[in-house]
Amino acid sequence: MIKINENYFKLQASYLFSDIAKRVSAFQNANPEKEIIKLGIGDVTKALPEACIKAFHEAIDEMAQDSTFKGYGPEQGYSFLREKIAVEDYQSRNADIDPDEIFISDGAKCDTANIQEIFSPDIKIALPDPVYPVYLDTNVMAGRTGKYSGGKYSNICYLKSTKKNGFVPDLPEEPVDLIYLCFPNNPTGATISKDILQQWVDYARETRALILFDAAYEAFISDNTIPHSIYEIKGAKEVAIEFRSFSKTAGFTGTRCAFTLVPKECRGFDSSSNTHSLHSIWDRRQSTKFNGVSYPVQKAAAAIYSDEGKKQVRTLIDYYMKNAAIIKKGITALGFNCIGGENSPYIWIDARGDSWDFFDLLLDKAGVVCTPGSGFGSCGSGYIRISAFNSLENVQKAMKSINQALKSQ
Ligand code: PLP
Repeated sequence: MIKINENYFKLQASYLFSDIAKRVSAFQNANPEKEIIKLGIGDVTKALPEACIKAFHEAIDEMAQDSTFKGYGPEQGYSFLREKIAVEDYQSRNADIDPDEIFISDGAKCDTANIQEIFSPDIKIALPDPVYPVYLDTNVMAGRTGKYSGGKYSNICYLKSTKKNGFVPDLPEEPVDLIYLCFPNNPTGATISKDILQQWVDYARETRALILFDAAYEAFISDNTIPHSIYEIKGAKEVAIEFRSFSKTAGFTGTRCAFTLVPKECRGFDSSSNTHSLHSIWDRRQSTKFNGVSYPVQKAAAAIYSDEGKKQVRTLIDYYMKNAAIIKKGITALGFNCIGGENSPYIWIDARGDSWDFFDLLLDKAGVVCTPGSGFGSCGSGYIRISAFNSLENVQKAMKSINQALKSQ
């Protein structure tokens, strides 16, 4: 008899995006003449940088000749890309990272989802609330949670991110083993200071825990005091794994390239408290289950580190951050409190009431689609997320409509 993994039954169907789609289509049917501007989803809208396209084309041409053709590549990624990342993203920030510690992948979603399988089923998880749902659902699938009731799973330590703590969670009040942190944060757009991140690293060292640090949005940081990587923090290499992605940095959401950094010093413990290198365990996992990212995609990703690539990526990020500034300024001028939008493409707005009511208000009165914060966890109730990923023209139009709609409230 083929038995199924019954943990899947514990998963809560995510109605968030289907509910949004239903409400948008009902509005569209009722108001066919009205334009709708979508500032809800976190997908980029602008084309790949020219340097990436050029490298992509060249790599495809190499694949077209027997003499330059590439078959299976290294599961961990080509060294031309790993070396660039180590130098440009880490060593340049005084983070002593070796190319061997970098594992190229086809997405931070898969990596943040897959990493949990190298840990024991009985560890205790701590994750932020609100949260990028992948961290939670993959642990539900793995059986690390109890039942779902009253908006929460049992056996999970929820790290509240609220106005009171500036959307940066406090250290857990109960013992935990694996901690998910994401900064700049999705959905809140909050960032973490070096001092607070140091407290988390010290905590992980003292309690023999591990931090999974999702830095998918680090490229949006412009404030020099904010850490881009957890390895800028003293002692982090033993206690942290970091995830990065080219998705938002360089428009790779449809092209797929990311990486995970597992330092050689990073340690885990067996049931007899012996120390083991998580680097070798992740290496074993990837070599067994993953066959690498395509050569042209890795070539395209490496191109962002060329002089032209760097300039083009900067232009891309500045473009979205100009949108973010317009949104933030407009929302603040209307008297709403918000966070994010400065070192992050997301703006997290206090809806002063129910998330869905505010969603409906923006849709009905302004024709603008946002994301209700309640979809990211119970601490997201009463908030909405607006994303800066759209054209400048659409953002300007959206803010004009929001201004008219909310002023008349
Ligand atoms: N991590 C966070 C916090 C995200 O918001 C996203 C995508 O929205 C990802 C990871 C996924 O990135 P990728 O496109 O590399 O799978």
